[in-house]
Amino acid sequence: MAWKAENIYSRNHGLPVLAKPDILVAGGGAAGVAAATTAGKHGAKVLLLERYGFCGGNAVAGLSGTLCGMYLASDNYNSPPEQVVYGFANTFFQAMKQCDGVTAPQRYGKTWTVTHDPHKWRETAEALLLSEDVDILYHSLIVGTIREGNEILGVVIAGKSGLAAIEASIIIDATGDADILHQAGLEYTVGDNGFVQNPTMIFRLGGVDIKRFLAYWGPDTICSPEVSEMIISAKETGKYNLIRSKIWLFPTPRPNELLCNATRVMGRDGRDLIADRTEDLSEAEISGRMQVRDYARFLADFIPGCETSFVNDTGVQAGIRQSRSALGVERLSNEDVMARRKRADGIARSPWPIELHSGTKPKLEWLINDFYEIPYNALVPKTGENLLVTGRCFSAEHEALASARVTAQCFQYGQAAALAAVTSFQEQTPLRAISGNEVRELMNKDGARLDD
Ligand SMILES: Cc1cc2nc3c(=O)[nH]c(=O)nc-3n(C[C@H](O)[C@H](O)[C@H](O)COP(=O)(O)OP(=O)(O)OC[C@H]3O[C@@H](n4cnc5c(N)ncnc54)[C@H](O)[C@@H]3O)c2cc1C
Repeated sequence: MAWKAENIYSRNHGLPVLAKPDILVAGGGAAGVAAATTAGKHGAKVLLLERYGFCGGNAVAGLSGTLCGMYLASDNYNSPPEQVVYGFANTFFQAMKQCDGVTAPQRYGKTWTVTHDPHKWRETAEALLLSEDVDILYHSLIVGTIREGNEILGVVIAGKSGLAAIEASIIIDATGDADILHQAGLEYTVGDNGFVQNPTMIFRLGGVDIKRFLAYWGPDTICSPEVSEMIISAKETGKYNLIRSKIWLFPTPRPNELLCNATRVMGRDGRDLIADRTEDLSEAEISGRMQVRDYARFLADFIPGCETSFVNDTGVQAGIRQSRSALGVERLSNEDVMARRKRADGIARSPWPIELHSGTKPKLEWLINDFYEIPYNALVPKTGENLLVTGRCFSAEHEALASARVTAQCFQYGQAAALAAVTSFQEQTPLRAISGNEVRELMNKDGARLDD
């Protein structure tokens, strides 16, 4: 089946114009929420568009479930969590703490993370957006762009009411999938020559005796080699379809509940799925739910504390780690991550390991007591004016993205994109004429503590 990829309208599109914000934020995931709230806080008239009826993207609809990327990794298992990411990521984290929406830091191998309540994530995001007078339009799928030459002038949305246009001075593509670039015919790449990290259908397991579970499982949310062996043995009986043998289970802020990051979603015919294809996304939902049943059965049959557990829910959608990545003026390289490269134009930092999901065991490459920085120009598309790309679809190489894509970092990219967009709008300067050094300074003024 072939699809029409680009959907470009001219300035004279003839559609009803619903709104004309200064800054349009496309997508209400971590990056979009950070971008819209920050731009609103700095005085811009902002509209956030989201296809679902709530914010959160892969963190909520995909149920990714934890707020990774805040803490340093260490070889010393007894060292306490050391937070090194601030700015909007910390604002959101503190707001979640206030409503008991996150756990205390939990061990994740050599580093730490916190598990969140997805319902409180939605409420917190909405409260922050509304507090900065951001307009929110839910149930709006962006299906086209308004483009004249290299200028992106707006988007076309489809909703229950039909088609409409939104025209804006600046657009921030926070769709996670670089949908705006795709529809505008701009350049992007897909994974490693089309090969992307596998999706995961995450689920929440209720009815768990957490005390007995923890006594068996231990403090590390990543399973022990013994559990991996049990998974492999159970699979060999032919009674369980367990494709992935290294799994992660996180006690959540809710009583008697585990968040289960266990499946490795592939096609039912064993093929790898590509997350920018509608057919593959559809297959991911079906095959993901089938795998959830088998992992839940395995946990109930083999893991102490889970005997009478049940699947509370799966994600609204299979979790998509990677699809399209913008081709930016700069690209975060695998080497930048491995070398823990810092830079004067760095607008965000990441201490998160390379966490590459492919094969039966996700690969983890730790950045011990260190982090790298991400340049502003990785948010600026190589071509296309009035447009920034933020969140997990910014310009990065395959393995670099396996580290740089987690939530705390997406919050930072969103904040940085907003600060650049507001400057561009207020000073009537092209986005690509703004220097990364300047955005870094704005980030620091806005609480990011990048020079600490
Ligand atoms: C299975 C899985 C497990 C993960 N585990 C963790 C974890 O434990 N901790 C962690 O920190 N991170 C984790 N991540 C990564 C993290 O969840 C994401 O990378 C991060 O949430 C991405 O945020 P984003 O805002 O860039 O994109 P997304 O979350 O993808 O948000 C994009 C938003 O745009 C909307 N949108 C998309 N297209 C359109 C359109 N055409 N029109 C309108 N709206 C649109 C979407 O609905 C969505 O709300 C995980 C990811 C996955 C998939």
